[in-house]
Amino acid sequence: MQHHYDVSLAPYTTFHFDESARHVIDVATVDDVVHACKEYGSSLLVLGGGSNILVTSAIERPVLRTVIRGRAITMDDGNAVDVTFGAGESWHDAVEWLVTNGLGGLENLALIPGTVGAAPIQNIGAYGTEQERCFRYLEYVDMATGRKVVMHHADCAFGYRDSVFKNDLRGTIVITSVTYRLHRHAPLDTSYADVQHWLQEREISDPGRKDVFDAIIDIRRNKLPDPEDVGNAGSFFKNPVVTGEEFQRIQSRASGVPSWHMADGRVKMPAAWFIDQCGWKGYADGAIGVHHKQALVLVHTGGGKGRQILELARRIASSVFDRYGVHLEPEVQIWPPN
Ligand code: FAD
Ligand code: NAP
Repeated sequence: MQHHYDVSLAPYTTFHFDESARHVIDVATVDDVVHACKEYGSSLLVLGGGSNILVTSAIERPVLRTVIRGRAITMDDGNAVDVTFGAGESWHDAVEWLVTNGLGGLENLALIPGTVGAAPIQNIGAYGTEQERCFRYLEYVDMATGRKVVMHHADCAFGYRDSVFKNDLRGTIVITSVTYRLHRHAPLDTSYADVQHWLQEREISDPGRKDVFDAIIDIRRNKLPDPEDVGNAGSFFKNPVVTGEEFQRIQSRASGVPSWHMADGRVKMPAAWFIDQCGWKGYADGAIGVHHKQALVLVHTGGGKGRQILELARRIASSVFDRYGVHLEPEVQIWPPN
C-alpha cells in the first residue's frame, strides 16, 4: 500500500483538471484493500483510470486507487473459457489479450479507457456489446466492514450503462477482480454502420475477430479525442431511453431523430443528435468546449476548471430540454455528487 499526500489529480483523471486530493492510497492487493477499508471505512472514494469522473473541487476524503494487477484462466472446456482479471488491469489491454488468444465476446469494447474493475459499474458498452454479455462474477470488499463478497451476474442489475453499483451499492464497495466467460466460437457483432463501412471499404466480406477489433480501434481513433491530447471523459450524457408513448411526443417536436427499439420495448435516441441540433457541436469557450466530431464529448484543452464543464453541461441539458422536452442525464460520475 502506498500513500501520497496533497496530490494533483490532473494525471489521474482523463479530464486532467488540476484539482487536489489530500490523501491518495494505491492498493495493489486484496489484503491492502481490506486493510484500507478497515482503517478508513465508507469515507473512501475509489478511483480506477479516472476516465468516467469529473472532479469539480479539491477532494478531502481519502482516494483509493485500485492498481491490483493479474489475470488467470480459471476454467477452459475447449470452447468456453473463464478469465479472472485484477481490478486494476487496463480494460483495453485485457480485451487485446483475449482477442490475441482467440477468445471472443468483448472485441467490440476495444479501446475503452479505464480499468477492468470499473467496467461493471456502468456496464460499459459500445458497438452493440455490453460487458454483461460475458460477465460471470466479481469480487468486492465492503468498505464499511472489510468483508469480501462474491457477486454473480443475476445480482448486478445490469442495464443500459447502469448497474446496482451505480445505485444501491454506489460508493460502498471496492471491486477487486472481475471474471468473464469468453467463447472461442462467439459470434461477431458487426451491426453498427461504422463497422460495416470500415469492413466494406477494405472488402472484408468474412471478417474474423481480429478484423472487428482492428475496425473498432481505427474508427474510435478517427472519431474520438485521445484523452492524452485533449481532456475528456467520453460521452458526457447517456443516450435518453423513453417509452414508445414518450417517443411519439418527442418525435413530433424532433422530426428526423434517429431511434432504436430496445429489448424491453423502450426507445433509445442519440443524445448527440439533440446536442448537435441545438448548435453545440464544436462550441468552444476558452479551455472548455464540445468536441467538433462528437457532440456528446465535452472537452478540456488545459488550464480550465471542472466546474466550468459542469456549467456547460447544465446549459446544454437545459437547451435540449427547452427545445425538445428531453432530459439528458450525465453518464460521467460527478464529484462531489450534487
Ligand atoms: P473511474 O473513472 O476511475 O471511475 C468511474 C466510477 O467507478 C467512479 O464512480 C469510481 O468510484 C468507480 N470505480 C472505479 N473503479 C472501481 C472499483 N474497482 N471498485 C468500485 N468502484 C470503482 N464508456 C463506455 O461504456 N463505452 C465507451 O465506449 C466508452 N468510451 C470512452 C471513450 C473515451 C475517450 C473516454 C475518456 C471514456 C469512455 N468511456 C466509455 C467511459 C469510461 O472509459 C468507462 O466508464 C470506464 O469503465 C471507466 O473506467 P475507470 O477505471 O477510468 O473508472
Ligand atoms: P454512432 O455509431 O455514431 O451511433 C450514434 C448513436 O446511435 C450511438 O450512441 C448508438 O447507441 C446508437 N446506434 C448506432 N447504431 C446503432 C445500432 N445499430 N443499434 C443500436 N443503437 C445504435 O456512435 P459513436 O458516437 O460513434 O459511438 C460508437 C459506439 O461507441 C457507441 O456504441 C457508443 O456508445 C460508444 N462510445 C461510448 C462512449 C462513452 O463514453 N460511453 C464514448 C465513445 C463511444 P449506443 O451508444 O447505445 O451504442
